[in-house]
Amino acid sequence: MTGPVLITGGSRGIGAATARRLAADGRDVVITYASRAADADQVITDCRAAGVTAHARQVELTRPGAVDELFGWLDAEVGPIGALVNNAGVVSPGAPVADYDSERVRRVMEINVVGAFAMATAAARRMAHDHGGAGGVIVNVSSRAAVRGGAFEYVDYAASKAAIDALTTGLGLELARQGVRVAGVRPGVIDTEIHAPGRLERVAPEIPLGRAGTAEEIAAAIAWLLSDDASYVTGTTIDVGGGR
Ligand code: NAP
Repeated sequence: MTGPVLITGGSRGIGAATARRLAADGRDVVITYASRAADADQVITDCRAAGVTAHARQVELTRPGAVDELFGWLDAEVGPIGALVNNAGVVSPGAPVADYDSERVRRVMEINVVGAFAMATAAARRMAHDHGGAGGVIVNVSSRAAVRGGAFEYVDYAASKAAIDALTTGLGLELARQGVRVAGVRPGVIDTEIHAPGRLERVAPEIPLGRAGTAEEIAAAIAWLLSDDASYVTGTTIDVGGGR
């Protein structure tokens, strides 16, 4: 696989761990972030120290045109990407569905679903053989919540990740003869800033392996899905949830 790996939400958490892991493996990376430029700069510094080419770009996924601008810049300045990790995502505050308003649901769908679809669409137009592309891999970051439902916490988030699982299945089938594999990873409870204060400590004892996972453990699964070792894996999503 040639060309850098584009990772959305690469400034911290799972995206940052993935960038650092891929750089250590010798892959060039491009990360996006929403607002935390200093965190993104640190990730880029660490990746370059591993000897690869690394760039960071601000992309607010709720802003119309942001994804087109990102790919316009990539086309002009960086060249074709070899892979996309569709990772950026948000959760909503914990609440039962009966307490939701439509603005809350719209926000999580706009970032987690519409944003991820826009990224996948732009990548497919460049990677697919029918579009003149050289092929590639798309890894979508879902969640165990897609299967568990997120009851009393964030059913809207769970639904957004179920949509991502369908994107992985459907796009994987569409691109199967186009040189592009599409796969997903469903993390369980991973120690990042995405959780409300105290949630990790509350949930960890319920996890069969007895602890939250690390961002690096998800990065390892993503790195495998991106690699040629996963050459027969497409249209499917793997669970990395400590048995949860
Ligand atoms: P995180 O630590 O909160 O990081 C989120 C990343 O997404 C940051 O880089 C952030 O950029 C970016 N982002 C947030 N809102 C954005 C927006 N509106 N537009 C563009 N980028 C935006 O999250 P994480 O825990 O690493 O999660 C990464 C992915 O894994 C998400 O899709 C999440 O749903 C999924 N996941 C996480 C867990 C878990 O337990 N942590 C479990 C299952 C699935 P800034 O730094 O600039 O804000």
